[in-house]
Amino acid sequence: MINKIMKTKICSKCKKRKKLNKFGIDKNRKNKLTYKCKLCRNEWIRNHQRKPEIKAKRREYEIKNKKRITERNKNWVKRYYKKYPEKMEKKRKQARKLSKIYYEKNKENVKKYRKRYYQENKR
Ligand SMILES: [Zn+2]
Repeated sequence: MINKIMKTKICSKCKKRKKLNKFGIDKNRKNKLTYKCKLCRNEWIRNHQRKPEIKAKRREYEIKNKKRITERNKNWVKRYYKKYPEKMEKKRKQARKLSKIYYEKNKENVKKYRKRYYQENKR
């Protein structure tokens, strides 16, 4: 009987009784479970992230940490490359092919652009 009671919890948001696995983990709390069920929590996070000031903050963070983020992404690509060399090689070939197709399609424009660039930077 006690076990049965222990295995459910009322969500502080939607007030529904739900199984414990429907709640997130919060290490700061005594019973290690969040007040809100996962559904309500997800909704809260979604709403929270949609707020303009939060978006602005994130943007700011991204600008401030651009170097670090790029570095991290680079490392990730390197790791991925090591793990899946064939996949990456395929991707690289595809990219090369695409840029070639792009070049073929835009040959004239590229030529014109190069010519103009040359003219403008002659002196
Ligand atoms: Zn809920």
